[in-house]
Amino acid sequence: MSFSRVRTLVTGGSGFIGSHLCERLLANGHEVLCVDNYYTGRRQNIEHLLANPRFEVMRHDITMNLYVEVDEIYNLACPASPVHYQFDPVQTLKTSVHGAINMLGLAKRIKAKIFQASTSEVYGDPHVHPQTESYWGHVNPLGPRACYDEGKRAAETLFFDYHRQHDVRIKVARIFNTYGPRMHPDDGRVVSNFIIQALRDDPITIYGNGEQTRSFGYVDDLIEGMLRLMATDDGFLGPVNLGNPGEVSVRELAELIIAMTGSRSKLAFRPLPADDPKQRQPDITLAKQKLSWTPRVDLREGLERTIDYFRPIVAAEAATRPAHSGSPKITDRLPIQPEEMAF
Ligand code: NAD
Ligand code: UDP
Repeated sequence: MSFSRVRTLVTGGSGFIGSHLCERLLANGHEVLCVDNYYTGRRQNIEHLLANPRFEVMRHDITMNLYVEVDEIYNLACPASPVHYQFDPVQTLKTSVHGAINMLGLAKRIKAKIFQASTSEVYGDPHVHPQTESYWGHVNPLGPRACYDEGKRAAETLFFDYHRQHDVRIKVARIFNTYGPRMHPDDGRVVSNFIIQALRDDPITIYGNGEQTRSFGYVDDLIEGMLRLMATDDGFLGPVNLGNPGEVSVRELAELIIAMTGSRSKLAFRPLPADDPKQRQPDITLAKQKLSWTPRVDLREGLERTIDYFRPIVAAEAATRPAHSGSPKITDRLPIQPEEMAF
């Protein structure tokens, strides 16, 4: 029997990115403790891992203390889609800030290495393009996105202060827009929205004129970058950008998805949400240098895999829908409707 197995805690482990991370860690031989309060995560994301004796799941909210013994912590718990993080902004801030304090306190007590899933949102609506890690950002601290952006910024501060003050070994990644299988169909993010709308032949909802840009990274590439960052020497803390520099406008993304799905959907323009960043593209020079990492999956290939994931979900829904009921909107089950968001 080996006692040298790495015991790894993943907070937010039943979410989109967390479930892929748990899967990879198990494949790499780790013992994995998945902690989640199921706010946006789903049991079905981790169902296929439950039979693995090295996998354990705990329902827990990271704004509360957690007492466990592990070697490494990946702190991913936090709603990530604007619709979800704006539904209960106070809870979003608590998750980022109290959650970071609790996880850092845990790391300090048990001398674990800890990873923080930070975000390109720390750059806000950027005045520097592409964004390098040295850019301090342009964030509206009062707007509807602030609960997420400022929460993640404060969490970064806490990580660096726990490192300076208490020698906690930290790794901070700034993750850019990520997509792939197991995105929540109802979370309102652009890739999942557009794919589902296209598969239903529903209107594709473009917010604003669609000229705003994003750089979309496929989830497998992100996980590889996260693992490589965690494996760096203790002297390398980050922050490091993890994203795919391929930049597209929202309108180009819509047209690509319509073409790839052979959809009859038409574009439908809606108001642009407040503080929606106009452009976003990672400079990944640092990740290339320090992690020897570069994304491998291009947008078309990643979208193909994501469309393949959503196709049976949309087909199953269509099969159970009464013929006369019309096409339900993707947002029907959202806790908050996009039109209720602060535009
Ligand atoms: P997600 O919403 O699918 O996953 C977040 C998980 O955290 C969910 O399982 C949710 O139930 C859980 N959670 C939320 N609050 C919690 C709490 N208080 N206690 C315990 N669990 C809680 O989102 P995701 O896309 O998988 O994002 C994971 C992490 O990566 C987040 O921290 C997010 O900010 C960061 N990130 C994601 C992206 C992206 O494009 N997906 C980009 C930048 C950063
Ligand atoms: N967006 C859109 N239609 C949608 C959902 C999103 O045009 O149905 C836009 C949104 O306004 C933003 C971009 O797509 O400009 C990315 O939105 P997402 O919520 O995926 O991520 P974020 O804004 O956090 O980058």
